[in-house]
Amino acid sequence: MDLLDEGPVPEHAREAKAEARAFAEAEIEPVAAEQYAAGEYPWDVLEAAMDADLVAADLPEELGGRGFDIEQILAIGEEFFRADAGIGLTLMLASFGCELVEQYGTEEQHEQYLRPVAQNDQLSGLAVSEPETGSDLAGMTTSAEKDGDEWVLNGEKYWVGNAVEADWLTVYAKTGDRDDRYGNYSLFIVETDSEGYEAEHIPEKMGMRASKQGHIVFDDCRVPEENLVGTEGGGFYALADFFNHGRVVVGGHGLGLAAAAIEEAEAFVHEREGFGRNINEFQAVQHILADMQTEFQAARTLNWRAARQVKEHDNPGYWAAMAKTKSTETAVDVAERSMQLHGGRSIFADRRIARVYRDVRIPVIYEGANEIQRNLIYRQTPR
Ligand SMILES: Cc1cc2nc3c(=O)[nH]c(=O)nc-3n(C[C@H](O)[C@H](O)[C@H](O)COP(=O)(O)OP(=O)(O)OC[C@H]3O[C@@H](n4cnc5c(N)ncnc54)[C@H](O)[C@@H]3O)c2cc1C
Repeated sequence: MDLLDEGPVPEHAREAKAEARAFAEAEIEPVAAEQYAAGEYPWDVLEAAMDADLVAADLPEELGGRGFDIEQILAIGEEFFRADAGIGLTLMLASFGCELVEQYGTEEQHEQYLRPVAQNDQLSGLAVSEPETGSDLAGMTTSAEKDGDEWVLNGEKYWVGNAVEADWLTVYAKTGDRDDRYGNYSLFIVETDSEGYEAEHIPEKMGMRASKQGHIVFDDCRVPEENLVGTEGGGFYALADFFNHGRVVVGGHGLGLAAAAIEEAEAFVHEREGFGRNINEFQAVQHILADMQTEFQAARTLNWRAARQVKEHDNPGYWAAMAKTKSTETAVDVAERSMQLHGGRSIFADRRIARVYRDVRIPVIYEGANEIQRNLIYRQTPR
């Protein structure tokens, strides 16, 4: 059974998928349980993925990347997350925030900041969420004020992937106080060794433990004016557009996790005996497996459709939000059912299903909690 088959994957993305699968089998699966237990940044796996040319692969070829499109990145995401979500997140977020600089930044910014990430010499990150809110993008309070030829940042960011490990971040900050609250935000490139930038890891997590997020404090952190990305006041809209891309890929996180949960369920029930037979012979168990398959295939079909819609800029917000919601909730649902089918053994901490069960709690939250996705789906439904 190959749940992540090539069926819905367009021809041009199949090579990337094959590379990601080979890498995941050789380099992620063997260390997944150990990395989960350690809860440390998986530097060795990241370096191996860089050697395999699977990190920052969406950055343009002329800068040293591979110019992968959304479908190629989705194909990689499914495979990485099937092998391990924590490691998968680390590999996929090594260039987080770069897409915004690529789309809205200047040529100088591309050379100075994107090229080193594309060439795997540096790591980046995207700092949007704050301790007091992650959902309300127009309610964030970290500010950037112009002072001569510099911007001065003050405030806090929370949950930021690579806040400690990255060389620079794309930071979302408030630059105005207009009545139109969506026009008050801008994006900045901030080097993490700047004065006034302090970051520490957030407390230990129960899921995706091989990924690291940080709490950042900006205390009169000065950045040169040329580090503004795009136009002043354009940050909210840039981010909203960027998230359509990200949400399709996060749907892939859910699909990879869901595939892992189903694989574990199938393997377990075909081996476990009870009442003189294998438990897969009970029709009640067969129906659970049938429902898991149906939900998974529905989610995956939707997710790949959404990838195409986003690529073609055809009502992307609606499709991306639906794909993210359906795929990540399918992962929660099938992980729960798979746990039940494992009986008492489900809760052994070192079991893959127990790891998956904890990891699935996260994609329903990040890249916008699913309640926010539902708001977007309703608002963008073609009527
Ligand atoms: C592992 C991990 C990695 C992350 N990586 C990053 C990163 O790299 N960069 C970054 O900037 N952020 C990152 N985040 C943050 C993530 O985007 C936020 O956690 C998410 O947007 C939700 O924000 P919050 O946690 O502050 O929840 P809140 O905004 O406080 O919301 C809490 C809950 O309230 C409900 N809710 C809130 N608003 C509404 C509404 N309008 N309608 C209905 N219900 C609502 C939802 O149930 C929601 O889950 C990461 C988070 C995690 C867990």
